[in-house]
Amino acid sequence: MKERTLSIVKPDAVAANSIGGMLGIFENGGLQVIASRMIRMDREKAEGFYAVHKERPFFGSLVDFMTEGPVLVSVLEGDNAIARHRELLGATNPEEADEGTVRKLYGTNIERNAGHGSDAPETSAFEIGYFFSNDELHSRGS
Ligand code: ATP
Ligand code: MG
Repeated sequence: MKERTLSIVKPDAVAANSIGGMLGIFENGGLQVIASRMIRMDREKAEGFYAVHKERPFFGSLVDFMTEGPVLVSVLEGDNAIARHRELLGATNPEEADEGTVRKLYGTNIERNAGHGSDAPETSAFEIGYFFSNDELHSRGS
């Protein structure tokens, strides 16, 4: 089933010049970039994005991290894009991520883990709409 997912190259990976490497893994893994933009999130934007985690002990630190520099937000499309993208990202903790995954290659620790991916159709719809309007999504069809 064709799906869309929200992908973020986090500030650690932008700073490390890993944008191209990461998008290459996603494209070679069968996903298409249908929208992309570099932005610098302020605290309010990052807190709203990660609102589901606001009671977690790491929330403040996560917001510090996500606002420390620019990120690349993209929408990826493809068959089972949500699960496929998370598979290509690897486990949240880079130490537990499989060889060849984004987080294994580019992540540093459980917080500074290079990439974000939506985890379900509902969160994907919310997250895509959080950064992009419909007319910015350039689906290549079929
Ligand atoms: P993401 O939502 O960013 O794709 P995920 O779904 O694999 O990652 P979540 O549980 O949703 O993981 O956590 C969101 C983000 O919060 C993680 O990607 C990581 O940056 C940070 N994080 C998660 N767990 C911890 C932790 N125990 N300590 C510090 N930071 C954490
Ligand atoms: Mg998550």
